[in-house]
Amino acid sequence: MTAFWTEPDFDDHEQVQLVRDRASGLTAIIALHSTHLGPGAGGTRYWHYPEPKDAIRDALRLSRGMSYKNAMAGLPMGGGKAVILADKSGEKTQALLEAFGDTVNALGGRYVTAEDVGISEADMVTVSTRTRYVSGLPVSGENAAGGDPGPFTAMGIYHGIKAAVQHKLGKSSMDGVHIAVQGTGSVGSGLARLLARDGAKLTLADIHADRAAGLARELGGEAVSTDTIMGVQCDVFSPNALGAILDDEGIARLQAPIVAGGANNQLARQGHGARVAERGILYAPDYVINAGGIISVAMEYLAKRQGEPSDINEVRKRIAKIPERLQEIWQQSEETGVSSDAVADGMAQKLIGR
Ligand code: NAD
Repeated sequence: MTAFWTEPDFDDHEQVQLVRDRASGLTAIIALHSTHLGPGAGGTRYWHYPEPKDAIRDALRLSRGMSYKNAMAGLPMGGGKAVILADKSGEKTQALLEAFGDTVNALGGRYVTAEDVGISEADMVTVSTRTRYVSGLPVSGENAAGGDPGPFTAMGIYHGIKAAVQHKLGKSSMDGVHIAVQGTGSVGSGLARLLARDGAKLTLADIHADRAAGLARELGGEAVSTDTIMGVQCDVFSPNALGAILDDEGIARLQAPIVAGGANNQLARQGHGARVAERGILYAPDYVINAGGIISVAMEYLAKRQGEPSDINEVRKRIAKIPERLQEIWQQSEETGVSSDAVADGMAQKLIGR
């Protein structure tokens, strides 16, 4: 392994820990970017990385992203992220998850974990047998917050898209507004359902073509191939699958005046935000618009710490503030000529004392 601190994505992270547990086969990296605003909160990713340096890069980038996301969501939480390196067999045993829980526990609350790619609610339940510094657990009670963050993320993106449509197109109704949704998984499908309810016109794509086709049938939209979704002529392109899709080629293909979606790290590199802006496209910074899930996870955790029941209405209220933050970013971007991603980064850095 290379030294963490010589990696280009190292950003004065407070703590980066390599975890090895021979008995269970656990190899993980836990990165704490900033605890300035509170314990570093961010999910655990379970993924097979071709090279260990790819896992380091992911942990460093994603934990910094969580610092920014939590700060911009107004949460009293810092930024952290864990990645568990899956071996080729991809076998995620109970012993491995327990060993991971022990490691989180040993950090004494500086890091709070939850689900991310490759980790289910059931996995988090196993982790929670070893530590209380965990969230995203099954919901108990009708008005309780928590559980799968996907639907809350979708709700925040829905509010954000409505704000973008109002800001850029001057429309206060989504009726007939055409949205191209890339990725119809947990977030993309939830978003599409909310938009369909408002009469939006939907074009959907997923590498699991049957998933997009089924949803299109259910909601009265159209399914297209994953090769064509980015070039669909529409009002909003909403990326809800992979990161790094806004590279030189991707940006050149866009035929939409707005990009607003939930995928993390949409911009391939710094500088691509300016390229999007040069094309006259309004961009909703990903970690601002996709904060709904972490808002739910954080409120669940904070309530539990205080021995109080979590409150779904408080979560909804906080998610409904996402458009205000986007408006502030877009306004500053227009006033200064700085692209919206850079404006958001500046705001977030200030909030975390950098
Ligand atoms: P998911 O795995 O449920 O869904 C992702 C979907 O994208 C899948 O259906 C997959 O088949 C599809 N997909 C993959 N590659 C694709 C491609 N090239 N073209 C089209 N579709 C493709 O994941 P999710 O929870 O819905 O998350 C989606 C994105 O949002 C991810 O980038 C994730 O990091 C981000 N995000 C999720 C949450 C959350 O609460 N789940 C919160 C913040 C950010």
